[in-house]
Amino acid sequence: MATPYRDDFLPESLQFRPRTPLVDIGANLTHESFQRDLSDVIARAKAANVATLIVTGTDIEHAEQAVAMAQQFPGLYATAGVHPHDASGWNDDVAHQLKALHQKAEVVAVGECGLDFNRNFSTPSEQERAFEAQLALAAESGLPLFLHERDAGQRMRDILRSWRDDISQAVIHCFTADRDTLHGYLDLDLHIGLTGWICDERRGHPLRTLVKDIPLERLMVETDCPYLLPRNLPAKLKGRRHEPALLPWIVREIALWHDVSEAELGAATTRTALRFFRIDAVS
Ligand SMILES: [Zn+2]
Repeated sequence: MATPYRDDFLPESLQFRPRTPLVDIGANLTHESFQRDLSDVIARAKAANVATLIVTGTDIEHAEQAVAMAQQFPGLYATAGVHPHDASGWNDDVAHQLKALHQKAEVVAVGECGLDFNRNFSTPSEQERAFEAQLALAAESGLPLFLHERDAGQRMRDILRSWRDDISQAVIHCFTADRDTLHGYLDLDLHIGLTGWICDERRGHPLRTLVKDIPLERLMVETDCPYLLPRNLPAKLKGRRHEPALLPWIVREIALWHDVSEAELGAATTRTALRFFRIDAVS
């Protein structure tokens, strides 16, 4: 039996259920803001036909929490990696713990890992060391990669090019960069994850003109919740916390710029995500 569904949280105008089941490939449900009402958040996602959630694991502790959630709730899966912000803490012990996590049935990708030269919470060389070590783990396990890149497109492409034959698939999550970077990634046969960034008329514009360049079989959708609340919502949300039940609004915006129907975009991104993460469809 599913958890009884009681929605006194989302305003009625935000409750929107597309016909096609969706996959949110980037949900940070281990974030402390979800601690209080996680089962309600998941029930709302299911009610909005967001049937499959990939819970992002950004360090050992959060990856273990993500695995525990995936064990508890049907339709949830986990990733396990070390985010570039935390790369300074990388060592052999972390590598061993990650490797053990990658063998768990609930873990469907290595990551979130990559490069973030925007904030440099860890130095670029620390980031590259942790990233390359995780590329090696992905090559070893055969798992796909869930990648983060901010202001590091050229270095990312150089590193991925040298690993491309050794790894299986990789998705650049929350892609927000320019045309050259996008085509560089597509030329490397990578996948692209789009978030509610595109719904923001203040900063989503360059991205909107690029959406059509991403083939539907390479495109996946994500909330990156609780961050990046879409700006195309017709009502205000208490607390302004983003959550998976709002993914259909992101699909709506992407479909508009891709010039396909919402149903087609939903079905295609779900097909792509289930194939990418090697998940059987949830009925
Ligand atoms: Zn990220």
